[in-house]
Amino acid sequence: MTTSQNAYYSDARYFDIGDMPSGGKTYDYDRFYVRQFAAEELPLLHYGMNTRVRAHEHVIRAVQMACSADLSQLTDGDLCYVMAWIRRQSFPETPLQAKYICTNMLYQDDVGNIYRDLSRKEAEIKGYVLKACGRDNVNLIKSTNIKIHTLEDESLQIVDHPEIDFARVNTLADFHELVDERPYMRYKADLARWVRKGKTLKAKLMYLDSQKDFKLWEEIEKIKVAHFHGITEEIQLRCSDCNHVKMHESTPCLLKFFADNSDKDVYNMTYNLMAQFGASPNLKMPAQMLMYHHSTLVDDRRKSEQAAKERAAQHRKGFR
Ligand SMILES: [Zn+2]
Repeated sequence: MTTSQNAYYSDARYFDIGDMPSGGKTYDYDRFYVRQFAAEELPLLHYGMNTRVRAHEHVIRAVQMACSADLSQLTDGDLCYVMAWIRRQSFPETPLQAKYICTNMLYQDDVGNIYRDLSRKEAEIKGYVLKACGRDNVNLIKSTNIKIHTLEDESLQIVDHPEIDFARVNTLADFHELVDERPYMRYKADLARWVRKGKTLKAKLMYLDSQKDFKLWEEIEKIKVAHFHGITEEIQLRCSDCNHVKMHESTPCLLKFFADNSDKDVYNMTYNLMAQFGASPNLKMPAQMLMYHHSTLVDDRRKSEQAAKERAAQHRKGFR
């Protein structure tokens, strides 16, 4: 164990998260410690989730602050795993918001009224046509099912190829910045992240461009599939119009993965706590503790206001 790892070893806020989905064979550290977010990291997280300028970098920085070792070495899949761990510790009860358009096919009349349980014949006689529901839904998701995909086969835990290596966090922010500006670059930039040579995404792209044929491109595509690891998240979506239920599984999006507490929320919460308890604000306070204290405080206040109202009502009655 190195000296810097020793510091995390003796800090009770940090937990060793054990084996990563990739197997962790390619990292220069053997233990990876994480803690939940502290109040002070929430504004940075919020900023990353809402800015258009290098948004991913801010979220990665916030995640980095809660980790013992350099995140830039991690593969995308391992980063997602670390993020899932931090989210579970930091925001266990915060629901997520899912926006989607319902694609359930239903019989409808000219003005879009929905008819259920009709046979095809009945629908045809009445002149109804099969159309997608099309409802714009916003679902609050209380729980998600996280699936962890690990590279069990040890030979897949490294990329045994002179020109190809895992796509890692060190090119992730540049990738998104490039693709936001030039969406048509997505496919090529995604492959370039798997090029071993070159420190920056730009250098990797140049290497890929310098190829005389598409052999390397094809090999990267195959390796990407064979070495897939990380997490996927399954959520249940229910359409509020037609009640259709569908399961949706996807790899998480960095910018939408965490609960969004704006910096104003965080400052309001600390201010309220301070005003109520006279405690000086501690931004090192775990995010979950901050939210718990605050919701308890709000709850207590609501209850005491309710009780005061009832007392006042009783009092008025007494005068009648
Ligand atoms: Zn629907």
